[in-house]
Amino acid sequence: MKKWIIFIICYMLFCFLIPNCFIRKTPEIVEYVDKIKLLLTETNEIVEMNFEDYIKGVLIGEVPASYEMEALKAQAVVARTYTLYKLKNAPNSHEGADMCNDINHCQAYLSKEYAFPVWEDAEEQDKWNKIESAVEETSGEIITYQGNIINAFFHAHSGGKTEDARYIWGQEAIPYLKSVEGNESYAFQDSKTFSKEELKKILKEKYQNYNEEINNIAIIDHTISERAYHVKIGNLTLLATDVRSLLGLRSTHFDIKIDGDNITFETIGYGHGVGMSQEGANQMALNGSTYQEIICHYYTGVELEKTK
Ligand SMILES: [Zn+2]
Repeated sequence: MKKWIIFIICYMLFCFLIPNCFIRKTPEIVEYVDKIKLLLTETNEIVEMNFEDYIKGVLIGEVPASYEMEALKAQAVVARTYTLYKLKNAPNSHEGADMCNDINHCQAYLSKEYAFPVWEDAEEQDKWNKIESAVEETSGEIITYQGNIINAFFHAHSGGKTEDARYIWGQEAIPYLKSVEGNESYAFQDSKTFSKEELKKILKEKYQNYNEEINNIAIIDHTISERAYHVKIGNLTLLATDVRSLLGLRSTHFDIKIDGDNITFETIGYGHGVGMSQEGANQMALNGSTYQEIICHYYTGVELEKTK
């Protein structure tokens, strides 16, 4: 009798206390595709390929093959999820194609044929084997939140903390895209300096109502992840995301320094900061995290599911 009670208690603990991030099979969530049409933006050519081969090319384009295996697997699941979400929710965003290789629109892609001449001869087969394994060992796996495929944004380096999606795209909070620790082992710092005249010219071209005052330039407030949110320049109040794209800054995690005739934007991190940090994922893998743990860290409250 005692044995049965212990067994039942253990069973209940197993059911309720294991992390909510485990793989189950619910094929109805999203339609899996076998083939994908990719628009190569440099040549305007559309190429059709096997979907999982496309994911391998995304990995080559998005992260160094020298990354830890678990980080590559996390990137494979994230890229697959990101693609299938786009196919489901924005199926007509390219004429005659499903996705493109523009990183500002979809995600990077480099073919094996492109990568081999670039990689060192001695390493190319090992690198390719890693990419293949990362995709094949996670084949068909996607990320879901409450049964729906997620919009799996990712970026290169968070600069400390990832960003809550509502600060970047000005929409309602997305429950699984919250600010969490970036987990990178180093700060990715960069800076860009403009003369006051140069900056005035750039602003005037974009905003005709700009009064050409420059000395009062300042960050007004910050987001939950300590990135700049709004920036005051003369009579303008701009979103830091607009300042970033106008000036080509690495991130909105910036400080503004005025020195004589020059204004410098000092940035930390690389990318919009939402979702998985690629560099943080690699650091987590180096510290022993599995790809499931990495994904569940960057996307709050999600599950991994198998689509086929
Ligand atoms: Zn695109």
